[in-house]
Amino acid sequence: MSQQFDVVVIGAGPGGYIAAIRAAQLGFKVACVEGWRNAKGELALGGTCLNVGCIPSKALLASSEEFEKLSHGLEAHGISVSGAKFDLGRMQARKDGIVGKMTKGIEFLFKKNKVTWLQGFGKLVNGGDSYTIEVASVGQRETLQARHVIVATGSRARQLPNIVVDNEVICDNEGALAFAAVPKRLGIIGAGVIGLELGSVWRRLGSEVTILEAVPQFLGAGDEAVQKEAWKAFTKDQGLTIRLGARLDKVTPHKLGVAIDWTDDKGLAQKLEVDRLVVSVGRVPNTELLGVGNVGLAVDERGFVVVDEHCRTNLPNVWAIGDVVRGPMLAHKAEDEGVMVAELIAGQKPHIDYACIPWIIYTAPEIAWVGMTEQKAKADGIAVKVGQFPFAINGRALGTGQSQGFVKIVADAATDRVLGVHIVHAHASDLIQEAVTVMEFKGSSEDIARICHGHPTLSEVMREAALAVDKRTLNA
Ligand code: FAD
Ligand code: NAD
Repeated sequence: MSQQFDVVVIGAGPGGYIAAIRAAQLGFKVACVEGWRNAKGELALGGTCLNVGCIPSKALLASSEEFEKLSHGLEAHGISVSGAKFDLGRMQARKDGIVGKMTKGIEFLFKKNKVTWLQGFGKLVNGGDSYTIEVASVGQRETLQARHVIVATGSRARQLPNIVVDNEVICDNEGALAFAAVPKRLGIIGAGVIGLELGSVWRRLGSEVTILEAVPQFLGAGDEAVQKEAWKAFTKDQGLTIRLGARLDKVTPHKLGVAIDWTDDKGLAQKLEVDRLVVSVGRVPNTELLGVGNVGLAVDERGFVVVDEHCRTNLPNVWAIGDVVRGPMLAHKAEDEGVMVAELIAGQKPHIDYACIPWIIYTAPEIAWVGMTEQKAKADGIAVKVGQFPFAINGRALGTGQSQGFVKIVADAATDRVLGVHIVHAHASDLIQEAVTVMEFKGSSEDIARICHGHPTLSEVMREAALAVDKRTLNA
């Protein structure tokens, strides 16, 4: 007799593990199926985010930032340090330690909440009043029954034709987070989030980084003011070489590295020789091995599970969340969908406002935004008022020496409702959250302007940007 559960979650990334915990909190008998193995071959919860995504990348970003600061970021404070060195082995071990702590933490949370971890990969076998799922792990196979299924199988790096990722010389995110030595010359295909974050890590540790980006525009999803500021910061100030409008012609791995033939934005043939190459050209959903055909689960032409705004699929009691469905591939979006679905199964009425999901790029300076860009609002025919204020005249920013960047607020010209906020600053990741809260509450720029902001804080720039919407800044 196979085990029976109220809710079976397939995948234990941030979408799946959070959905499992929330469903258990709501009183359901819950299992989560996960077969991920880490580089040591151990089974691990946490998915892409904890194992080879958000958490390890932020650990390396932080270590490399500390090194850069120590090497040449403190002169203005009157502090000089000579002979700063780093031990990449220890840096990587620190990162691995953080990952281990976090993934073990989910095992603890599963036990605490009585979520059963079924170790292996899950496949939908057949449907009906309840769903049969087969879980396969090395040499073992078991089946179980689920009244509700939450598909949270996430995504993996997209591959390009004729480029074989071996995670030694040509890497995706997994290899690029695990280099044992700093490559002298590092090539990156794709100037998206991974390209910029990991490019920053390895540049700070000494690599000459060249990024080839297919699209002629830099950071196309960002506001034009953000694009301009970030371009200057990454190329002019920091020395990342980013070539836009690049077309890859041929990638040839050889004994010493990789030769790349490419065509530039003027149509001229170019050659690039690098020691390591990172391919970061987006991600694709994990649905091939899920058995979608066995139960008739609808997926679109790119493999994403088709869902409505509440993550319902075409099948009764089957839900899908996170990277495997439409929308931004972000951990916090996956988590919020996990909570929403568990609560819907329990008969509650949760809802996600997808316009209020923040984007954060953890470079230095960080880049964060939520909602519409000024250009998108205008393209949609919305009349807007815009306020922008620089950190360069904020006392706290000057005190810490992190005064690059600005806050830009886009508000509806008729109602003053905040439609979008765009921040470039070392601490943009934390600062954006005030904007998210205001937008969730459908607040106006006047609301931000009237709220008391502590002094001296970076958040005062948010208030000044709000005052700038009404052309009444106090400190400029
Ligand atoms: P995943 O985390 O991909 O987890 C899916 C899980 O499902 C995996 O563990 C997989 O093993 C499992 N699985 C797949 N198929 C099956 C099956 N058949 N049976 C059982 N289990 C299965 N996002 C942010 O918000 N902030 C960041 O800073 C950030 N940094 C990132 C850095 C990098 C380098 C990368 C690659 C991604 C980053 N992301 C970041 C994106 C973030 O990792 C994803 O959006 C997030 O992990 C999606 O969560 P998920 O639960 O949908 O899927
Ligand atoms: P991305 O979509 O951010 O960027 C991919 C880039 O590659 C794009 O600019 C695209 O134009 C370019 N590209 C595509 N094909 C190309 C080609 N043939 N030649 C040259 N350039 C090409 O994808 P990513 O950087 O791989 O990251 C994947 C996803 O992971 C992100 O979209 C994001 O959702 C998530 N992520 C988030 C964070 C964060 O939140 N801080 C960090 C890392 C990753």
